[in-house]
Amino acid sequence: MKVQKFPSRKELLNRLHEEPFKRITLSFYRYVIIDEPENLRNELFRKWSELNIFGRIYLAREGINAQMNIPETNFEKFQTQLYSDKRFKDVPFKIAVEDNGKSFYKLIIKTRNKIVADGLKDDSFDVTNVGKHLSAKEWNKEMQKKNTIVVDMRNFYESEVGKFENAICPEAHSFRQELPMVKEILQGKENEKILLYCTGGIRCEKASAFLKHHGFKDVNQLHGGIIEYARQVKLKGLESKFKGKNFVFDERMGERITDEVISKCHQCGNLCDSHYNCANDGCHLLFIQCETCKEKYEGCCSVECQKIIHLPIEEQKKIQRETAKDVPSSVFSSRKRVKSSFLKR
Ligand SMILES: [Zn+2]
Ligand SMILES: [Zn+2]
Repeated sequence: MKVQKFPSRKELLNRLHEEPFKRITLSFYRYVIIDEPENLRNELFRKWSELNIFGRIYLAREGINAQMNIPETNFEKFQTQLYSDKRFKDVPFKIAVEDNGKSFYKLIIKTRNKIVADGLKDDSFDVTNVGKHLSAKEWNKEMQKKNTIVVDMRNFYESEVGKFENAICPEAHSFRQELPMVKEILQGKENEKILLYCTGGIRCEKASAFLKHHGFKDVNQLHGGIIEYARQVKLKGLESKFKGKNFVFDERMGERITDEVISKCHQCGNLCDSHYNCANDGCHLLFIQCETCKEKYEGCCSVECQKIIHLPIEEQKKIQRETAKDVPSSVFSSRKRVKSSFLKR
């Protein structure tokens, strides 16, 4: 019997880096009713495979959330195809600011219950009653006013490497955890001006509706998120009040917005804002590591993991099986220890 061998992640990444053409990295989302997400999934997978598109796309009855890269030459075809579906007509694309096109190396389209896991019941509040959308210029102006509260709606490992000046950055591991946390932090501030932001704006759509439902009167959100903000800042020569890096959920791990480095290497404490996954596949921890430590620990998060990567592969697999059994996921919930497989928006 012939066994079909799938190319490994490494092989796919090599292929991506050797491609002779350019890819454009973009993202988009829309809350729109999709009656049969599974059918749409299959249709999009077929069409987008033909166009050699890579990315991670989520479909649900509530809409679509897509991050992808597209060969430059196929971009127009992709756009025409997508916009011909009236559900996605004129959906705005957010184009990456710092982009080498090496953001994704395969195409994954999944159907889910929700496009953003919020842990809320569908009918618990009116999701269309969102906050006021602010452009980058308006955002800067509002930020300067007294008594304005700026809240980062992303997870802690995202705000760790980049954030708006004076923003409240909850220590949340997921969006689901973040919503009630933010509500509690803001208790008593129902009449004050609140500014919300996230990566591309999708999380703020939910968060603003959630806060309004809970009695907050003046809820505003950054239109198009940090990605669009950075683009506007460049385009219009505005001052960037966002400092550092915008964490992104793809192979690039971040887009640099300003030169400031606001975080530290988790191993030596030197200034650094480069995220990596631990080189030990059985660990795969997402952490911040400087170049010196990367060399010293061979890309591992700890001496333990460094020992493991030098064992024969069979032994490594055995350790993986054993640790999978006895390590409860809560072990990874302290600030430094986040298993990337647990990363949720
Ligand atoms: Zn270091
Ligand atoms: Zn490790």
